[in-house]
Amino acid sequence: MAWNNEDATWMRRAIELARQGEAQPGKNPIGCVIVRDGVVIGEGCNEVGLRHDPTAHAEIVSMRRAGQKLECHELRDAVLYTTLQPCGMCTMASVWAKIGRIVFGAGRDDVHAMYFEDRHLDTVDFIRDAFRKDLSLEGGLMVRECAALYVPPDAHVPYSEQFNR
Ligand SMILES: [Zn+2]
Repeated sequence: MAWNNEDATWMRRAIELARQGEAQPGKNPIGCVIVRDGVVIGEGCNEVGLRHDPTAHAEIVSMRRAGQKLECHELRDAVLYTTLQPCGMCTMASVWAKIGRIVFGAGRDDVHAMYFEDRHLDTVDFIRDAFRKDLSLEGGLMVRECAALYVPPDAHVPYSEQFNR
């Protein structure tokens, strides 16, 4: 996968937000940044505990902020960077928001399966089945740094391998 400098810059910001989330009660270490034309239009971390809201994932929090900022529910041509592969809810919300590209760090195989809601369905399936050929999903950017937010770096064994032990 060919990442550009801008991708690395924004993923670094997402990691920073994830670390801030980890340090604050009610927030969790998943960070997200939504960028359009080189400008951040929305960002945040997981605030599920803080807001008592099961939908307050980092991606949803960021999309809401972007929508409010732009006074528009469509985030066309925006790129969503997130430290962890988006769940089905966030992927579908990205489809509805008409986001153009999703870039994630750690994938479901890099962390514990508890971070995901489904054993078999993958976020790619959501996009493929959602009539969206103009939304791309790319994963693995700064995967070690991102996975380290969820599992100790030296214990980084893909979950698929753990499962087969
Ligand atoms: Zn989610």
